[in-house]
Amino acid sequence: MKTKIITAICLVLGISASAQNVNNIQMPELLNKNSRQTINVPNILGYQTLKCDFHMHTVFSDGIVWPTVRVDEAYNEGLDAIAITDHIERNPSKKDVAGDDNSSYEIALPRAEQKNILLIHAGEITRSMAPGHFNALFLKNTQALDTPDWRDAFAEAKKQGAYFIWNHPGWKAQQPDTCLWWDEHTELFENGMLNAIEVFNEKEWYPIALDWCMDKNIAPHAASDIHGINSEMYNLKDYHRPMTLVLAEERTEESIREALFANRTIAYFGNNLAGKEEFLKAFFEAAVEISCFKEKGKEKSYSIKNTSDVPFFLSSEDKSFTIPANGETILMIKNDAENMYAIKNLFIKGTENLQVSLKLQD
Ligand SMILES: [Zn+2]
Ligand SMILES: [Zn+2]
Repeated sequence: MKTKIITAICLVLGISASAQNVNNIQMPELLNKNSRQTINVPNILGYQTLKCDFHMHTVFSDGIVWPTVRVDEAYNEGLDAIAITDHIERNPSKKDVAGDDNSSYEIALPRAEQKNILLIHAGEITRSMAPGHFNALFLKNTQALDTPDWRDAFAEAKKQGAYFIWNHPGWKAQQPDTCLWWDEHTELFENGMLNAIEVFNEKEWYPIALDWCMDKNIAPHAASDIHGINSEMYNLKDYHRPMTLVLAEERTEESIREALFANRTIAYFGNNLAGKEEFLKAFFEAAVEISCFKEKGKEKSYSIKNTSDVPFFLSSEDKSFTIPANGETILMIKNDAENMYAIKNLFIKGTENLQVSLKLQD
């Protein structure tokens, strides 16, 4: 009887051992779940607000990661679209990494399709100032831009239907004490080869570049220009990476292209937004909900809720207050009080904030 019981136990153990190797015990709880973050920004003016980073590097120029890593980072951080913009003329890894200027796009594309990230074929035209560095987006063959004369590179990109972004105009390596617009930029602008400017790059903001954008109707962008690992570089606990918000009809590459050429962009960096007044006003109004919950004589109390990741820092002559990101604040106001505020983190010019009057109905 005793032997039978032991045999039965062994049989049970034997069966379970064959299904689960006792000398290879899996511990999936140790692995990162890599769940996708949500970036809370409202859709405005009938468009979808797409979260895009159009400037980053890989081992195919002077970055340190494989192209698929850029897709995984973008997926995890909640982006919709990216462009890998390896330097066309400069590749310090050339002797260790085979391939050409199209390789980073070709390698990343299957991963992007798998993760539903829109990947835009691009490259960084890397020349001395002027004209400096430009990203060319929507290319067909990046390799063809590797020409001795910079004007030939721009002409080739234009032939391929490119959208041109002037990168980091105030980068100290090229403009040590200034941030100047050169004659070459006028030439490019007049020939349709300067569609956008990075008013923010990596960790630098160039207020004067926003003035150029608004004066000449050029699209403002913000981008990471990431070379290393994004989560190592940025404080992703408190902020998103810098990005360009694109107001697109649909979440497709063709829609992004149409929106970019129509200048429907907002630069989003840290807690700041920079762009056209109509876009920032629409953003604020879509993100914020105001309701009156108490009235006592001339005084009224309002609840102001913000459903976006962007806090709003409001300031008037006599009052400053914050509407926190994804939060609420209470505002007490007298009926005859001034109701015009500057939003200190929303920029419609380099040194000019969006002004709003709160809709304080009952
Ligand atoms: Zn650059
Ligand atoms: Zn770059």
